Amino acid sequence: MSTYPETFQGYAVGSSVNWNKAKLTSFPPKAFEANDIDIEIECCGVCGSDVHTVRGNWSELKSLVVVGHEIVGKVVRVGPNVTHYKLGDRVGVGAQAKSCLECSRCKRDNEPYCKTAVFTYNSAYPDGYISKGGYASHVRIHEHFAFPIPEGIKSEHAAPLMCGGLTVYSPLKRFLDQAREANKKYGDTEVTVGIIGIGGLGSMAVQLAKAMGYTKVYAISRGTSKKEDALKLGADGFVATAEKDWAKSHQDTFDFILNCASSISNLDLNSFLSAMKFGGTFTSVGLGPSDESFSVSPGSFIRNRSSMGSSALGSRAECIEMLELAAAKGVTPWIEEVPISEAGVNEVLTKCENGDARYRYCLTNFHEAFKT
Ligand code: NDP
Ligand code: ZN
Repeated sequence: MSTYPETFQGYAVGSSVNWNKAKLTSFPPKAFEANDIDIEIECCGVCGSDVHTVRGNWSELKSLVVVGHEIVGKVVRVGPNVTHYKLGDRVGVGAQAKSCLECSRCKRDNEPYCKTAVFTYNSAYPDGYISKGGYASHVRIHEHFAFPIPEGIKSEHAAPLMCGGLTVYSPLKRFLDQAREANKKYGDTEVTVGIIGIGGLGSMAVQLAKAMGYTKVYAISRGTSKKEDALKLGADGFVATAEKDWAKSHQDTFDFILNCASSISNLDLNSFLSAMKFGGTFTSVGLGPSDESFSVSPGSFIRNRSSMGSSALGSRAECIEMLELAAAKGVTPWIEEVPISEAGVNEVLTKCENGDARYRYCLTNFHEAFKT
């Protein structure tokens, strides 16, 4: 039974020992502020970060944790200063809940890098309230971090785009813009992109990289079991890193490699760098448990002047742009729908941890689960 607006309901994990034993719980929302909206949630995607968080792979759980940051729902309350939305609008929420919107990073569309960023769950607001995510009846959020969903995209397909889609779109777009500008002079516009880890993020990265145009895309997976799917997703080529000498046969291939793997412990960065073209960039959005780190020899960068870095989420402007591209090009994430319930949440967390998702779980039937 939902007791909105004083209390929200959600599936909460109390400790990392019980990471796949979420329980239906009531909790108070954050204090309502003038730019906040309340969203009645319709569905929510299941991100690899949800699993890392409940397993305590990044930090201790701060309190009862309600994960979920691929949220779609309907606006049911608007604060007095809200300008983007009205009651009844369909919106999405990703992994970020707040930033100052005033610093040089925020002003340049780099909100995820704001020093005061608050994330959608397990993250502290300035008053100490710990944010709660979307495996819940409602979410309360600053309007800047809610995004309008184009009519042509079904809610269940829009949900995974909120975190997974945006996280891969941002670095792909930034690199492709730069590469096209540099290539203009030489008339060589096609950019070769490799996507490592064909899970939720990786599958969307293949689709979005193709949708952006002027790209040749390789899906890079550990084995060969996802080859057929990767080609159906739109990949032009496939690499299985379990195959001996894959890197030798792909020397001088990639302008850009986007790592979407959820663990980097067995990722041979030196091999990936050796497969770069001159000036290639390796960007990691994939995050392993916090005790994992990359090991790389400086010599690997010297041979082709390649470089590496990481990327976090994306900006509001990029999210809106990405959703418009998805609508225009018919980018449809591959999802499996699971009705939300204690059993449903625990099943998807477990299957995601085991690598069984093909390729994104989307929790649905929220109206049934949180009936008033
Ligand atoms: P998934 O579980 O859906 O996919 C992860 C993929 O990683 C798997 O399909 C697999 O691909 C590969 N993989 C799994 N285990 C290993 C391993 N031990 N070694 C190498 N590769 C492995 O997760 P998501 O796509 O939802 O998330 C991927 C990562 O991105 C997570 O670490 C998540 O926390 C992070 N993330 C980062 C964000 C950011 O802002 N930077 C935002 C959102 C998520 P294959 O079978 O093809 O090898
Ligand atoms: Zn995520």
